[in-house]
Amino acid sequence: MSHVHATSGSAANRVKSLVAALEGAGLLTEQRLDDAVASFLGRAQPATGARVVARAWVEAGFRGRLLDDANAAVAELGIDLTHWAPVKLRAVANEPGRHNLIVCTLCSCYPLALLGPSPAWYKSEAYRSRAVRDPRSILAEFGTQLAPGVEITVWDSTAEVRYLVLPERPAGTAGAREDELAALVTRDGLIGTALV
Ligand code: FE
Repeated sequence: MSHVHATSGSAANRVKSLVAALEGAGLLTEQRLDDAVASFLGRAQPATGARVVARAWVEAGFRGRLLDDANAAVAELGIDLTHWAPVKLRAVANEPGRHNLIVCTLCSCYPLALLGPSPAWYKSEAYRSRAVRDPRSILAEFGTQLAPGVEITVWDSTAEVRYLVLPERPAGTAGAREDELAALVTRDGLIGTALV
């Protein structure tokens, strides 16, 4: 399986050379680059993933499209993942009796555009190895106790696919507005280490 480490020194050097070449050719200014990065990072936070989940909870059609083709579905909400191409986003839905957990066993691939920077534990050797071997005990350490019969599916991110957990809509929220629902969704709920 090919797997790209975004932090490799050679990649960073290639980016530096590319930026210098574009600046030299008058195609890019430092200011435009800074603005683009600031704009991207401003949107790259758990609230963006939470907005996707809340829409899926209130609109069955969107939920279906999200599970079918997440890149296209989030684009409906103005979330542009074309910088990721050809990486695909895949949403995986928690259901009664079935829980999903995301990990990157080889490095730290993570849906940054929807969740913001990943937490340190996500990149830790302990999480990366144990999430696959013994997800139930990892979840217990996060204070997430699943009933014994609940099946856990662990999704290993790659250079090609990033995952987003679609948590179950909490009970007792039938009358809640979409923005109120979004406020209930946590980062860890989107990774699958917590329930919402
Ligand atoms: Fe990775």
